[in-house]
Amino acid sequence: MDSTGAGVWVFGDYADYFQNRVTLQLIAKAKSLAKVLETGVGVVVLGEGVSQYVMEYAAHGADMIFIADHPDLKDYDVELFTSVTASWVELFSPEIFLAGATPFGREFFPRLAKRLKTGLSADCVALEIDPETGLLVQTTPAFGGELLADIVTPEHRPQMATVHPGIFKELQHDPFATAVVVYPQVPSLPSRKIELIRRRRERSRKASLKEAKVVVVGGKGMGSAAGFEKLFHLAELLEGEVGATRPAVTAGWAGEERLLGQTGKNIKPRLVISIGTSGAIQYTAGIQGSEVVIAINRDHRAPIFGMADLGLVGDAQSIVNLLIEELNRRI
Ligand SMILES: Cc1cc2nc3c(=O)[nH]c(=O)nc-3n(C[C@H](O)[C@H](O)[C@H](O)COP(=O)(O)OP(=O)(O)OC[C@H]3O[C@@H](n4cnc5c(N)ncnc54)[C@H](O)[C@@H]3O)c2cc1C
Repeated sequence: MDSTGAGVWVFGDYADYFQNRVTLQLIAKAKSLAKVLETGVGVVVLGEGVSQYVMEYAAHGADMIFIADHPDLKDYDVELFTSVTASWVELFSPEIFLAGATPFGREFFPRLAKRLKTGLSADCVALEIDPETGLLVQTTPAFGGELLADIVTPEHRPQMATVHPGIFKELQHDPFATAVVVYPQVPSLPSRKIELIRRRRERSRKASLKEAKVVVVGGKGMGSAAGFEKLFHLAELLEGEVGATRPAVTAGWAGEERLLGQTGKNIKPRLVISIGTSGAIQYTAGIQGSEVVIAINRDHRAPIFGMADLGLVGDAQSIVNLLIEELNRRI
């Protein structure tokens, strides 16, 4: 049995944080599993300078966060991550350990399960606690998706599963939530077998404006064609697309196909970042269905702030430059 009061663990996979929400989705699911088991949710975060993710995981429901903040863990490395995590699992004995079926999760979790001599269900689509046995029922597609198999791990611990992104719904961000932060000892790390020379983001297939999950919209407040051009760079870093208001299109900074609003496109992405736009109804009609809207405008009275979930008052160029700098730093 776990010794921390946080018996359901989630691996904090923070790479591509803005796109990859699976850790937050798993924290939400872990919370409901932990409730049945009368325990809490622990999140494991390995890396360097990871405090912003720690805060995010706390705000999304983690009860306890186990951190290794170490220069050697700056980049994901399956051997090093396995070594640290396995030692912590042995130390704290969680009942359940979940990770997203992301490219890294798919490589890391099988190795970790092997090291811990326990089972692993890959690409689960449902997770429940069996009320009679208290075991985790891991539902995963079998025979090429023809059947759904319910798998349990009766004897070995932890019960491990990877889960597809998008299956569970993340909890709402609660800025007042608190979590216990623990810095367990980091074991002596094996030497790296792989040296990372440089990172390059793979060019993803261009999503259309309608399909994009993130849309950066520029308005007249972008000031010039050169100012607007930076939005393409920002959108690329966020793996998103660029939209424009009527004045930006009229000025020739963006093509008509990027126009949003009453006379343009209606979009419903996960995130819109609306920059240098006043928030005229003819424009906001086109972004009304978006999940989250962040507005940036130098005028705090701009109507766009009335519909935004988050507002930043400041100069568009300066904020865009800072965002680009920060996102480049994280690649
Ligand atoms: C029939 C009709 C249909 C229309 N259809 C559409 C439509 O489909 N789509 C559309 O977009 N518009 C449409 N319009 C136009 C619409 O009414 C607005 O004029 C337009 O949306 C305003 O665009 P904007 O916010 O980019 O510009 P503005 O309203 O001029 O706002 C610019 C904003 O940028 C801010 N700003 C300036 N400099 C900076 C800086 N350095 N840093 C930060 N902020 C700064 C300002 O404070 C201001 O709030 C339509 C109008 C009509 C009459």
